[in-house]
Amino acid sequence: MSEHDKIRELLALAAAGAVTAAEEKQVAEHVRSCVSCSNELDTWRPIATELRRLPTPQPSSWLLQTTLARAEAKLTEQAERDWNRRVMIFVVAFAWLLTIASWPVFHFVSGRFGSLLEPQFSPTWISFTAFTALGWLAGGVAAVMLAVRHRGERRLA
Ligand SMILES: [Zn+2]
Repeated sequence: MSEHDKIRELLALAAAGAVTAAEEKQVAEHVRSCVSCSNELDTWRPIATELRRLPTPQPSSWLLQTTLARAEAKLTEQAERDWNRRVMIFVVAFAWLLTIASWPVFHFVSGRFGSLLEPQFSPTWISFTAFTALGWLAGGVAAVMLAVRHRGERRLA
C-alpha cells in the first residue's frame, strides 16, 4: 500500500480529529505535497465540522423511563409468579394434610374407627372420596381467587 493510499484512508478521520498525533503529522506532511489528498481533506473538513456541531445523541428520558418500567414489570411478574407458586404449594400441602387427617376422622365419625381396610365403594369410602375431592376443589378455587385478587391489587397499586 502506497503512502498516498494509506493517507487517503485516514483523511476523513483526520478531518474529524479522530487520528493519533503521529497519524495527523503524517497526513499534514502528505497533503503538503499531494494536491489530490489536499483537496479531499478540504472536502472532508466542513462535513466533519458539521458532524461535530450535531448534538451528542443522549438516551431520551422517554426511552429510559420505558426501559425502566419494562424492567420493573418483568421483576413484578417474576415475583407474582413466585408468589402464586408458593400459594399453590401451600394449598396442595394443606389439601394433602387434610386428606391424611380426615381419613381416621371419617372412620371415627362413621363408627368404624380401627377398620381402615374398607372394601371399596362402601358408603364411607364414597363419602371420604367426595369430601377429599371437595377439599381439593376448594383449595384450587381458593388458589385461583388469591391469585386473581393479588393481580388486581397490583394493578391498583
Ligand atoms: Zn495523496
